[in-house]
Amino acid sequence: MEKPRYRRVVLKISGEALAGNQGFGLQHDMLVSVAEQVAEIRDMGIEVSLVVGGGNLWRGITGSAQGMDRSQADYMGMLATVMNALALQDALEKAGSDTRVLSAIEMRQVAEPYIRRRAIRHLEKGRIVIFAAGTGNPYFSTDTTAALRAAEIEAEVILMAKRVDGVYDSDPLVNPNAQRFESLSYLDVLSRGLGVMDSTATSLCMDNNIPVIVFDLTKPGNIRRVVMGESIGTYVGRDS
Ligand code: UDP
Repeated sequence: MEKPRYRRVVLKISGEALAGNQGFGLQHDMLVSVAEQVAEIRDMGIEVSLVVGGGNLWRGITGSAQGMDRSQADYMGMLATVMNALALQDALEKAGSDTRVLSAIEMRQVAEPYIRRRAIRHLEKGRIVIFAAGTGNPYFSTDTTAALRAAEIEAEVILMAKRVDGVYDSDPLVNPNAQRFESLSYLDVLSRGLGVMDSTATSLCMDNNIPVIVFDLTKPGNIRRVVMGESIGTYVGRDS
């Protein structure tokens, strides 16, 4: 059997991806599909950690635009990621995977506190680790969380799961002639303002040389394809 390209990965799943085509909340089929795909690559011997977003339930910026205090609204966003993390844990356990949720905000009754060494130990034991509550700080995103955790646990790559098959030069839903990039440099992403991830996350990846692969999560089997090295999305790295 061919060997996977990566040994330890961070899979970033946006809240939007978990909403499936409902656009809001959690779609059961999507949770099951993600869980099965994650279990599949774990069974290939890959150490898998997940960073989960919360945009399907709440975004801090929305509350702030409505006049809420930004930090208060961001804490609500971080709590939304915990709900998603628990839903994913449930789906992963139903798919037969040993899973731990590690939360950046302490809530001992529902999740372990985030401790870097403990996260690595879980991964070494073959458990799937879900990082919840973002970085634990307002004004950050879960994309930045993915970059931070990837650096901390020395993951080789961030797999950025989206509902589109990569990064385009314009919105493919609006422009039928939009072109998909095979690869991009971090600087391209920053200077062209491409919507891969926010600039804080991109800079953190650039400074620590962590490659990011943007791919379409909605096609079953795509997580395996990405870890096997198939070029099915857009690669963001030091050299485009
Ligand atoms: N958030 C935060 N700090 C973090 C991570 C997330 O304040 O370190 C809040 C922020 O309000 C954000 C919300 O949590 O809008 C949900 O996260 P995100 O928007 O990154 O989710 P996604 O777009 O991936 O679904």
